[in-house]
Amino acid sequence: MGQIDARSRLIVALDVPTQEEAIELAGSLSESVGTFKIGLQLFTACGPAIVRRVQEFGADVFLDLKLHDIPNTVANAVTEACCLGVSMLTLHTSGGRSMLRKAREAANHFKVSTGRPSPMLLGVTVLTSLGTEEIADIGFAPELDDLVLRLARVAADSRLDGVVSSPLEVGRLRSAGLTDLSFVTPGIRPSSGADRDDQKRVTTAFDAIRAGATYLVVGRPVIKADDPLSAAQALLKEIESAILV
Ligand code: C5P
Repeated sequence: MGQIDARSRLIVALDVPTQEEAIELAGSLSESVGTFKIGLQLFTACGPAIVRRVQEFGADVFLDLKLHDIPNTVANAVTEACCLGVSMLTLHTSGGRSMLRKAREAANHFKVSTGRPSPMLLGVTVLTSLGTEEIADIGFAPELDDLVLRLARVAADSRLDGVVSSPLEVGRLRSAGLTDLSFVTPGIRPSSGADRDDQKRVTTAFDAIRAGATYLVVGRPVIKADDPLSAAQALLKEIESAILV
């Protein structure tokens, strides 16, 4: 990976229920934040129009729909996301190789047939909100770390561009040789004592970058802050200092 600057490594999740709130946040943050994540809540509430609206700020959109369905359905959804011009799109790696490969083919086909760029396809490994007990509860046998590695390998074999994991797992994935992937890490909190909300596998922005994360996804620590712009700028400083170490 070439060196990329702090601004392009910070992604802010617009986890709000209305177009007005999303636009206000994106407008106030767009000088410091280059990519906004639109996830299930906002997309369900506002539909594709909100993607276009956020793009009007000159920002990239990460569409976090975590697709998980039969291969044909997912491939068709990938094509629609390509048409929206988003820069990143998530799929659940546990959807399996056929689903991921069909998704890859759909994105490649879009690129070749339209001459337009296709989004980075990111495979979600194990949600950062899940801990060991819950993983066992839903029937996954391996240790959490092993499961993340296994799913990241499936993503790499299926030619995805990156994976979403906890920052705590990036070091292990890189040392396992998965160095061609981009690593997108939610589960970022300002300090070890900060409120984790529903996240379990968390760390700071500084430690995530030092561990090898490519992009950091941050929601509540920015959007619920009294001053979201200052919170984003503090994160950028932390990312910069981690890059410079
Ligand atoms: O508010 P917080 O910083 O915890 O938000 C993290 C964001 O990243 C949320 O929008 C969540 O949906 C998303 N995400 C996640 N874990 C994943 C993939 C995405 O927390 N594995």
